[in-house]
This record gives sequence, structure tokens and C-alpha cells, in this order.
Amino acid sequence: MPIRTTRIEGCFSRTLVGYCAGNTPDVIEKGRTIDTSDLLADPIVAFQKKYFWFLIIWACFIIPTLIPVYFWGETWSNSWYVAVLLRYALTLNGIWLVNSAAHKWGAKPYDRSINAAENLAATIMSAGEGWHNYHHVFPWDYRSAELGNYKFNFTTTFIDLFTKVGWAYDLKTTSPEFVYRRALRTGLIESQDDSVPLPWGWNDRDLPQSDRMEATIVNRKQG
Ligand SMILES: [Zn+2]
Repeated sequence: MPIRTTRIEGCFSRTLVGYCAGNTPDVIEKGRTIDTSDLLADPIVAFQKKYFWFLIIWACFIIPTLIPVYFWGETWSNSWYVAVLLRYALTLNGIWLVNSAAHKWGAKPYDRSINAAENLAATIMSAGEGWHNYHHVFPWDYRSAELGNYKFNFTTTFIDLFTKVGWAYDLKTTSPEFVYRRALRTGLIESQDDSVPLPWGWNDRDLPQSDRMEATIVNRKQG
């Protein structure tokens, strides 16, 4: 997640208030520099964006209330409070852990100078987004982690599945040697240098060209 703090004033504020209060001006400004025209031109993404609220209300609230009632005779109140509100609260807080716990607790094997850390609990709760030290060092790596298995990385499994059928391509990732050299250079140094801008992704101007040159590209698009 593109949130960066020099210190975390209370994990709670990072978890909840950050979302309720919205993005800070620098996050909004940086967001404007990201080119999303390819996404917006995609008909499925355009559909989702246009009917966002309709889809949310049905997929998140109405359908999960109806299914337990109609299929196994659950009461309306049980269905609403457990299958909808409790589930919603748990999943939201789980995802928010990426911005709080994964910026506070965990190992920093790739860059010790940043807050983001490798956090297993956040990873489990967010289906693979908690290997956060790695993610902020290699934000353009589609795997969000260097682990070569799918145990705790469901989102990578999902993307890889679509690579197999050809829907996902041009995936940027790293070689073990690339990761190792980076870990040697910045992972073992104790410093709190926050002046170096963290890149956000592949096309970010803050991303060193050397990283781009050295990246591994999976299922490269032809032509
Ligand atoms: Zn983050």
C-alpha cells in the first residue's frame, strides 16, 4: 500500500483513521502522476467503475444476507450480523493490517531503513500482501514477495493462474541474485534514512533504471 510514515503514531490510527480520513495530500499528488489509462480503457474495469456502488451493495451486503437464509434456513438477524457485518469488519481490519502491523512489526531483510516489514499475520489476513518490506523495495514485482510458493500468497497464485491462460502478461519480477544483492546493500544496514524516495511501481520516475534493466519479465507480450 502506498502509505509511508517516518513513525507510526499509534497503530490504531494507521489501521483505521488513515482510511476514514482519506489520503494525505502527498499521496493524492503522487497518485495523479500514475498513468492508469490502460486500466480505464479496459471494458471490464470501466464496467466495475461505473456500477461500483450497485455491485458493492449487492455483492457485499445483499447476496451474503440472502444465501444463509435461503439455503440453510438461517435467521435474518444471524445472517446480517454474522455473514455480513462481522465478516466485513474482519476482512476490512485484516486488510488494514497491511498499513499498520506490516509497517511496524516484522523482519526487514531487504531494506532496514524503511518501516515496512515482513509480517505473517498481515499476510494471512490479506491473502498475501503482508510481505511488506519486499513489496516496498520491489513495488513493481507482481508477486509482492520472493517466496517461491503459494502457501501464504493467494494473490500471486491468482495472477499466475491467469498467466497460464494468457490473460496476464508482461509480469515484472526479480531473480534471486538481484534480491540477494539488494539485501546485502540495504538489508543489513541499521539506519533511519527517510530522505530517499520510495518508488511506487514500474513506471515511477523514482525507480532506478538499473532495477528496470535487471527485472525479470514473465510471459512477455508479443509484438
Ligand atoms: Zn506499505
